[in-house]
Amino acid sequence: MNAPHFPHRATGDYQQSDAAHHLHAFVDQKALNSEGARVMVRGEGVYLWDNDGNRYIDGMSGLWCTNVGYGRQELIDAASRQMKELSYYNMFFHTTHPAVIELSERLFSLLGDRFSHVVYTNSGSEANEVLIRTVRRYWDIMGKPGKKVLIGRINGYHGSTVGSASLGGMAFMHEMGDLPIPNITHVDEPYWYANGGDLTPEAFGKRAALSLERKILELGADRVGAFVAEPFQGAGGMIFPPDGYWQEIQRICRQYDVLLCADEVIGGFGRTGEWFAHRHFGFEPDLICIAKGLTSGYVPMGGLLMSRQVGEALVERGGVYAHGLTYSGHPLAAAVALANLDVLEKDHLVERTKNDTGPYLQRALREAFADHPLIGEIQGVGAVAAIQFAKNKATRERFSDEAELTWHSRTVGFELGAIVRSTNGRLIVAPPLVIDHAQIDELVGKMRQAVDATAKKVL
Ligand code: PLP
Repeated sequence: MNAPHFPHRATGDYQQSDAAHHLHAFVDQKALNSEGARVMVRGEGVYLWDNDGNRYIDGMSGLWCTNVGYGRQELIDAASRQMKELSYYNMFFHTTHPAVIELSERLFSLLGDRFSHVVYTNSGSEANEVLIRTVRRYWDIMGKPGKKVLIGRINGYHGSTVGSASLGGMAFMHEMGDLPIPNITHVDEPYWYANGGDLTPEAFGKRAALSLERKILELGADRVGAFVAEPFQGAGGMIFPPDGYWQEIQRICRQYDVLLCADEVIGGFGRTGEWFAHRHFGFEPDLICIAKGLTSGYVPMGGLLMSRQVGEALVERGGVYAHGLTYSGHPLAAAVALANLDVLEKDHLVERTKNDTGPYLQRALREAFADHPLIGEIQGVGAVAAIQFAKNKATRERFSDEAELTWHSRTVGFELGAIVRSTNGRLIVAPPLVIDHAQIDELVGKMRQAVDATAKKVL
C-alpha cells in the first residue's frame, strides 16, 4: 500500500471541519453534525477503510458505481497516461480527440446498430438535463413542436438538478426549489408490494403501465414527447416491475409516437448481468442515460445515448445543436471509461454477474431472508437486490415506522462492517461486480445479523 496522499488527522478533527463546511446529500445536516460523518480513507476491491482503520465490505458499490471495485491499476494507469498526453481538450465547435472517439466506438459496438450518437456529460443528472432539451428539440425539427411534455414516474429518481429532479417523482425533492418545472408530469410506479392490493403482480404491472396511456390520452398525444423511467427503480427502493410491464409500456410509447427513454445510470454496465438493464427486461429504448458504471465512479462521466432515428434526425435536419459542457467527453474520463470497459470485458464481469455471482447473491439473500419474520419480499437480479420489510407477510402490511427500522438495520450493518442502504421500507444492495462467493457470504451474513438485531427490537 502507498503512503496516504494526505497527512493523517484525527477523525474528530476531520468531522469538525466537515461539519463546518459541508451540506451532505439527503440528510438533516444539523443532526449529522452532532454525530459526525464517517471518514473514508481507502478502498481496494470490494472493501473500504475508514480513518480509524475499520474495514467495510461495500454492498452498495459507493453509489451503485464502482462496478470494477476500488483501486484497479488499469484505470489508474489509463488516467495517468492520458493526463500526461492530453490533460484536457473539448468538443466545442470543430475539435475532438482520440480518447473520446475510441470510447464512442466501443459503446456503440456494445449497443448495436440501432444506436448512433452520444452527448457526454459529467453526471447522471446532467444526462437527464440533456435528455429534456434533446427530446424537445427532436420534436421541433420533426415538425411536432407541441410534443413538449415529458412523463416520469412517481418515486422515480433521475438526479438532483432542476430538470432531472423534476423528471424524478420524489415529492420531498420537489419541495426544494419549486419543482417540477412546467411540462413534466408523472404516472404510477410499478411497485406491486406497496400498491398492488389484491391484483396479481402481472395484472398490477399492466395497470401501472396503463396509467401512462391514460395520461397520454388526457394530455393528448400531440403534446407528449417522451416517457422517462429507470428499468428498475434504484433510489426509490430497487423496485423491479412485474413481468410484462415494460412490454406494455413499449406498446404504448410506439402507439402514441412517444420517445421511450431508459435511465440506465444505475442499470448500465453489467449490474443486472446484461450490459444494459433494458435487455434484461426486453424492451428497446430510443434514448438512454448513462453514468456511474461507465467509469466505475473513478472520475465523473455520463452521457445521453441516442438511437439512430433521433441522432440522425438531429444531424440531418437539426442545424445547430445549441448545447455544450466544458467537460463533455473529457479525455481523462474517456480514457478511464475505456480502461473500465476493458476490465469488465477482460474479467468477464458481466457474464459472471449473469451466470455465477449474480445467481449466487440472489440465492444467498433468499436463503437468509425468505423465512425471516421482518422480511416480506426479496427482489433482484444479478448484482442488485432489495429486501422489503413487512409487518404482515400475508397481507403485505408495512410497518408504520419502517423508515426507522430499515435505518436501524443499515446502521447496525455499518457497525458490523457491511455497507447497505435503507430506502422506502427496504434494505438494498448492489455490490461491485468483482465480488466473489466468500465476500457475498460475508455481506449477506452481516445483513442477516443486522436485520436480526432490528427484529430483536421490534418482535
Ligand atoms: N439517474 C439515476 C437512475 C440515478 O440513480 C442517479 C443517481 O443515483 C442519477 C440519475 C443521477 O446521477 P448523478 O448523481 O451522477 O447526477
